[in-house]
Amino acid sequence: MSLRLEGLSAGYGGIPVLHGVDLEVGEGEVVALLGRNGAGKTTLIKAVMGLVRVYAGQVVYWGQELTPLPSYRRAQLGLGYVPDDRRIFPELTVRENLLIAHRPGPWSLEKVYRMLPRLQEIEHRRGGLLSGGEQQMLTIARTLMTNPKLLLLDEPTEGLAPLIVEEIARLVLELKREGMPVLLAEQNLRFTGRVADRAYVLETGEVRLSGTMDELLHKEEVAALLSL
Ligand code: ATP
Repeated sequence: MSLRLEGLSAGYGGIPVLHGVDLEVGEGEVVALLGRNGAGKTTLIKAVMGLVRVYAGQVVYWGQELTPLPSYRRAQLGLGYVPDDRRIFPELTVRENLLIAHRPGPWSLEKVYRMLPRLQEIEHRRGGLLSGGEQQMLTIARTLMTNPKLLLLDEPTEGLAPLIVEEIARLVLELKREGMPVLLAEQNLRFTGRVADRAYVLETGEVRLSGTMDELLHKEEVAALLSL
């Protein structure tokens, strides 16, 4: 198991947003967190990263209990976090943004360029001049350069054009083939159906439904929980 949450309660300023969440991400599995705005997806990902207060329960990563560790230690242990607000360095070029993130491991500039050839085409362009889709690809690529052992993607397709969403789906599927475990928060059910093995549907900080994507896509409650 790459990640296991047990009875996780977490939130802000003493007020829990997540209530007793149990969740697992297997080795090489792509797992989605679904739920409408405010359901607690971002809070859950931040709790895994150590960026919000945990009130009860455990975060176990490759068998290690993370709860006492600060987020920089979690990053050093190989948790690769891609936040929803695309934090690239606008003054640095694409190539520099990638090289600055590099840590030893199988991921290199060459490998990232092989998976995302568009980034090589624009490698000398400054981060601040990229389109939203290019910035999202660069953000994910930069996290891959840190050689993560688990990838956390917060709404990777938000606000992106269909062609770019397709590129990101292709990338996630390639990562899955390589055995990279991924936990992703999403509202885009089509994208999730393409890339994820399983999903958990959150509502007001609790898991309402979980199952394989095939099972969930056939349940009417899913559309209701996502207010589609
Ligand atoms: P979205 O798609 O809007 O990001 P989400 O499912 O990721 O939705 P969260 O961002 O985790 O949901 O928010 C869950 C709840 O936590 C919401 O009620 C929100 O108002 C609250 N919340 C989020 N951030 C904070 C904060 N910094 N301080 C206090 N409450 C917060």
